[in-house]
Amino acid sequence: MRVRHKPWAKGKLDQHSDIVIQSPKEYSGEWRDLFKRDAPLHVEIGSGKGSFITGMAKKYPTINFIGIELHESVIVTALDHCLDENLKNVRLINEDARGLTEFFAEDEVDALYLNFCDPWPKKRHEKRRLTYSAFLAQYEYVLKKGGILNFKTDNQGLFEYSLESFSKYGFVLQNISLDLHHSGMQNNVVTEYEEKFSEKGQRIYRCEAISSE
Ligand code: SAM
Repeated sequence: MRVRHKPWAKGKLDQHSDIVIQSPKEYSGEWRDLFKRDAPLHVEIGSGKGSFITGMAKKYPTINFIGIELHESVIVTALDHCLDENLKNVRLINEDARGLTEFFAEDEVDALYLNFCDPWPKKRHEKRRLTYSAFLAQYEYVLKKGGILNFKTDNQGLFEYSLESFSKYGFVLQNISLDLHHSGMQNNVVTEYEEKFSEKGQRIYRCEAISSE
């Protein structure tokens, strides 16, 4: 993904440390205290500009949401959405999601979202795919038993790979859709990439992988 560098982004993120959490490791096991309520915790990995996480937060005010995004020039737009909408149930983490098991304690998370992650189609790049087994180990650790990893992509190859990867790892698959936008699914919140791809007529694939450990 090409990212336009915004030199002012870091300063703006720092100014809003109540929303963009600076030391997420300190809150491991204590995120509910930060939100000051005992509500389900849902986490999105690679939130981009935040349309999905903020759309979900508006739709489900009784859930606490956290978006993790690597690039400050991208997550700063998610911050703008939070500020514009005055959302109280979203926090953002500007870090590499590889640190997931340091940010969250075992069984702390009720649901994860992985939307339109980079497909890394070359076999030699398999370990970079966010549905590679090493990442699944992290998802399983932070998800409570029965917690759901919600996955969407436009990329058929990545979808097939991921179904196999989830299944091999022991996740139980449900609600598999090979054409989400013609599946009759209610309440789908669209991401930025999803909007772009579906406008071009591309199919959207979706599944839910349930943690059984
Ligand atoms: N989820 C958004 C959507 O559907 O519109 C953005 C999709 S974009 C293709 C993938 C996003 O994941 C990028 O913003 C990228 O910076 C972020 N990303 C990729 N690897 C990441 C990682 N290891 N940790 C955190 N964010 C990551």
